[in-house]
Amino acid sequence: MTDALLSGRDLHKTYGATPALAGAEFTIRAGEVVAIMGPSGSGKSTLLHCLAGIVRPDSGVIHYAGRELTAMSDAGRSALRRSDFGFVFQFGQLVPELTCLENVALPLRLNGAKRKTAEAQALDWMERLEVADLARKRPAEVSGGQGQRIAVARALVIRPKVVFADEPTGALDSLNGERVMHLLIEAARATNAAVVLVTHEARIAAYSDREIVVRDGRSQDLARAA
Ligand code: ADP
Repeated sequence: MTDALLSGRDLHKTYGATPALAGAEFTIRAGEVVAIMGPSGSGKSTLLHCLAGIVRPDSGVIHYAGRELTAMSDAGRSALRRSDFGFVFQFGQLVPELTCLENVALPLRLNGAKRKTAEAQALDWMERLEVADLARKRPAEVSGGQGQRIAVARALVIRPKVVFADEPTGALDSLNGERVMHLLIEAARATNAAVVLVTHEARIAAYSDREIVVRDGRSQDLARAA
């Protein structure tokens, strides 16, 4: 696929004697939402971590926007993550000492934005995610669903080209999970961000444009049931 924004070819990764990836393939276009499904331990998170430049595969090649991610230095990949990628994990991973607003503003601050500018943009994103009223609270004072919506705001605030979401609703009840997914996809569509979504739930994968299944570290495209 020549118009892929992010692609991985023949990715292998072994942890000690445990093979996590054994020839996985992946492509995503700008603005596309792709779900990575599969049973627990099949290599979904490892694939996401490799694509995001967090984990270096043992072999295989990853390209992002015309650059070879797998040939970049740790510092180069780290800079790319800060400028181009947003992250939502299963348990928000908000910084407990900061207010929710400061958490959402943090990626902008790390990219050098002034506090006022960063917090104004952060508040704007919190409004879009319907959590602006929680701006001054600490993460411990908000619910799981609210925390995940704050985490989505934090992921989107830099206007990333790719959002990596690893089981973003895995710790939520189905109603809150649906709400978080709806808002995440709406925000991604509005900014043309691609979403790499790891989930083991078909209900959550249904928000994607396309699904792949990972089994024993290998991936295959799944034809969407009509
Ligand atoms: P999934 O996301 O599908 O549950 P993972 O990618 O987390 O699968 O894990 C794939 C395999 O690699 C599993 O056997 C897991 O135990 C192993 N694994 C993943 N990360 C590590 C790690 N940091 N250290 C050791 N083993 C790991």
